[in-house]
Amino acid sequence: MNIENLARREILELRPYETAKQVPGLVRLNANEAPWPADGSAADGLNRYPEIRPLELHARLAAHYGVSPDMILATRGSSEAIDLLIRAFCRAGMDSIMVSPPTFAMYRVYADIQGARTLTAPLLANDEFALDIASVLEGCTAETKLVFICSPNNPTGGLVPLSAVQELCLGRADRSVVVVDEAYAEFSEAPSAVSLFGDDSGRYDNLVVLRTLSKAHSLAGARCGAVIACPAVVKLLSGILAPYALATPVVDCVLHSLEPANVERAQTAVGNILRERERLGLALRQCPEVVKVWPSRSNFLLVEFQDLPEVERRLRAHRILIREFGRDVSLRNCARISVGKPQENDLLLAALDASAQRS
Ligand code: PMP
Repeated sequence: MNIENLARREILELRPYETAKQVPGLVRLNANEAPWPADGSAADGLNRYPEIRPLELHARLAAHYGVSPDMILATRGSSEAIDLLIRAFCRAGMDSIMVSPPTFAMYRVYADIQGARTLTAPLLANDEFALDIASVLEGCTAETKLVFICSPNNPTGGLVPLSAVQELCLGRADRSVVVVDEAYAEFSEAPSAVSLFGDDSGRYDNLVVLRTLSKAHSLAGARCGAVIACPAVVKLLSGILAPYALATPVVDCVLHSLEPANVERAQTAVGNILRERERLGLALRQCPEVVKVWPSRSNFLLVEFQDLPEVERRLRAHRILIREFGRDVSLRNCARISVGKPQENDLLLAALDASAQRS
């Protein structure tokens, strides 16, 4: 990918902040840190700044996702990665991103913040919200720097096949970066777009994949995600990511979660979610108030109700929250329901049964 032509000139030419050196074993009088730990502080070493870009964390994330360490940048959740990409590639008032709604709303929000336009190629509402590849390609302009593909998509739950990602990467070669947001990949039982980096021809160099520890690894509170991209893009984004972005306790906690036994535990938890997703989907389809449950490759279900406001009121009375999308016309009366623990899913089903009996 010719990053020189795609990225913002100011970012290519940016001179990153030079942090105080961190040399193990040397007395650190160069960073204005406190020499003693805080009294009663929860973790050791918090009087010192964390590593600028934590080496072991990057190595472990790289091994976990099956790429080399120079292809990984750890960020504060994958949300931050979206922001970094838009800031690095989109010139305010000039460039655009392409998204396929209904999809994760933060792409547009970060584009708005940067002053970039958001172009849309809606998912096909009459075809289970499938991606309309032709309309994505036709809708892009010379100024479209980023094409966001969310797979599995939030909130529809559908998977975008790798063949579509390949087609988009080739169709936008040298013109756009294709960002595949795989926040929910572990629930999809499908190969990751990361596998395309194995193609030595360089045909997929304009691909960027986003992963997160927030979902399948149960670490939403830790705020850790990863950009997986060719080394030139990783270097570019690293230049604008704040120094010391990841806090010491976060790094420790993520390293712990990436130990083999804990990865295995996370895989078991994903299996439990998949079983519950199946059970919940079947039960919801029996519910008279439910119009449709979309097939999901994720840890949630998109459900259309006959009368969503009424269902929401009743669920609220049972102390249950679900997510509605009031502003989106293609999702009228639809709600996204996260797959919870078996007891939580039972509560939901009981509450819906109760509402069904009353109507
Ligand atoms: N992408 C998608 C599709 C999401 O649904 C979310 C969170 N809901 C994110 C990215 C951001 O997740 P995080 O910042 O926690 O990694």
